[in-house]
Amino acid sequence: MHQNITERKEAEQALAEANIALQTALLREQELAHTDGLTGVFNRRYLYEVAERELEVAVRYRQALAVIMFDIDHFKKVNDTFGHAAGDQILQRVTQVARAELRSADVIGRYGGEEFVVILPMTNAQQAYPLAERIRAGVAAMRVSTEKGEAAVTLSIGIVDMRHAEKINSIEELISYADQVMYSAKQAGRNQTKIGG
Ligand code: GH3
Ligand code: MG
Ligand code: MG
Repeated sequence: MHQNITERKEAEQALAEANIALQTALLREQELAHTDGLTGVFNRRYLYEVAERELEVAVRYRQALAVIMFDIDHFKKVNDTFGHAAGDQILQRVTQVARAELRSADVIGRYGGEEFVVILPMTNAQQAYPLAERIRAGVAAMRVSTEKGEAAVTLSIGIVDMRHAEKINSIEELISYADQVMYSAKQAGRNQTKIGG
């Protein structure tokens, strides 16, 4: 009898531990499915999913929402000069600089190869500007040592907010507008931040 109770307790304990291990593995899988392997920020698909929800909340509660798009300047040349592995390292360092400036409610994701999107809930474009500038200046000051010498990069940044979303029904359109504004920063000479008109 005593023996039976002990055995049952042990079996229950083993089952509880197996359950925890399964839950942990499941959470880890979900995290991996949402994350860009190189940089650790959200991947494009999950970025869209989270951003869509943030846009819905902002529209429903008439809150501000800013979208920052940044792209590394002349990154093709950086790869050509310092090698693809150094390029990868730069991508990681750039995301570290950006993440250090963000708050917990902010969302950052990899939109394309060397393009990233940041979603800032309850923030308008004017408020997002100093943050974008800190990211830009932080990246410009960054030096990455490579086998072929010290590498440096700059960013071109575009910012839009809910004002631009008024005639816009989807996060895709809002991000696409941020992309256009970012492109105007490229045209204006790169290494700068522009706000959508
Ligand atoms: P621009 O200033 O106009 O943005 O010029 P650019 O050279 O940055 O733009 P372009 O779109 O011509 O090139 C992007 C480059 O980014 C080309 C591609 O090899 C590089 N790239 C994209 N993804 C990765 C990556 O994961 N790792 C590395 N090392 N390079 C990447
Ligand atoms: Mg680029
Ligand atoms: Mg690009």
